[in-house]
Amino acid sequence: MISVEDAVSKILSTIPKINSEFVSLKKSLGRVLSQDVIADRAYPPFNRSTMDGFAIKSADYDSSKIYYCKKEIFAGMESKLDSGEEIVKIMTGAVVPDGLDAVIKIEESEEISKEENEIRVKLNSKKIFHFMNIAIEGEDLKKGESVLRSGTKIRMPEISLLASLGFDLVPVYCLPQVSIVSTGNEVIPVEAEPLSYQIRDSNSYSLLAVLDRYGIKPKSSLLVPDEESKIVDALSQGLESDILLLSGGVSMGSMDLVPVLLRKLGVEEIFHKVFLKPGKPIWFGKKGKTAVFGLPGNPFSVQVCSRLFLDPYIRSFLGLEIDKPQRFSFFGNRTKKNPMPEYFPVFLETKEQTGICTKSFNGSGDIRAGLFSDGIALHPADCSEIKDGDVLDFFPW
Ligand code: AMP
Ligand code: MG
Repeated sequence: MISVEDAVSKILSTIPKINSEFVSLKKSLGRVLSQDVIADRAYPPFNRSTMDGFAIKSADYDSSKIYYCKKEIFAGMESKLDSGEEIVKIMTGAVVPDGLDAVIKIEESEEISKEENEIRVKLNSKKIFHFMNIAIEGEDLKKGESVLRSGTKIRMPEISLLASLGFDLVPVYCLPQVSIVSTGNEVIPVEAEPLSYQIRDSNSYSLLAVLDRYGIKPKSSLLVPDEESKIVDALSQGLESDILLLSGGVSMGSMDLVPVLLRKLGVEEIFHKVFLKPGKPIWFGKKGKTAVFGLPGNPFSVQVCSRLFLDPYIRSFLGLEIDKPQRFSFFGNRTKKNPMPEYFPVFLETKEQTGICTKSFNGSGDIRAGLFSDGIALHPADCSEIKDGDVLDFFPW
């Protein structure tokens, strides 16, 4: 049986070439840039006043002098100094005219008199220096400077920057088409009334949550009983997508038909079973561009396997870096009897430092296993007991 690490590298080795497309800026949130972003001009594009006040020439500043001010410059206006003009009143965001190089705040001015076209002011700033209260043209970005790398996820700071740079259309990697198929005679839709031996489908919703993190909406989500012809129909349809996600039917039971039917449909098995708990029966294969994840049906197995195997595939498909596990001290004590690496739900807690804690649950079929958790931690294979203070790998949800 292969290890988790080998399984992940096999999965990642099958990523197809990623296509990219342009989407409108409004639709770009959560998407991943497919090109580096270059500044189209200098930012700020002009010397910008960062205060409401008076723009002057710093070298000529004299606190005892009465200045004659004939002009007020607002943001959104061209600004020019007329001959003989020494100062202008200026508002935040306005262009500091050529010839002036410092802004004294309005609070540090004293109006002596005011007429229709002229005010007389005294300025009493304690300090004065070149570019005081001015954001200098190009100090944030030079024209042509690379400011965002391809592979960056677009969040609030990035969309704000893209808007500033004029990206009404944004180059992003294409989202994969995803189909979900949940199998099981006992599995019924959420809205149906269960008989005593039936259970509601929750796995489709766990998978929905993983996809939603990347802005992916599944093309279809089907529930099928353990009947060959119905499974074949659903799989054939799902194989048209880039990713086919299956839950249930991959173990060794007589109703676990999925691996055989996938092979019949020409899907190449890349591995079946991985040395881990929970989720050992996981199946992965490929047909053409389509990656097929056969996840074991237990709800917590689906959550663990989607975090460990599906999440890196999607990230890589989208051009995102694969996040390495974080490392945290474990607060508590945990034993295990089997030789497999075990992934268990943990939550972050801050005592003197931040660490991870767990709560008991009843195995991978427990529908509330992950409820309290911020992610999962690894109880390493070769270690029967983890103790207070041991540092573990932590995978946030
Ligand atoms: P299986 O992998 O098909 O052997 O299923 C293992 C366990 O997971 C069984 O107890 C199933 O009833 C349960 N299970 C399978 N599919 C789902 C599903 N879609 N939602 C919730 N539980 C499921
Ligand atoms: Mg089943």
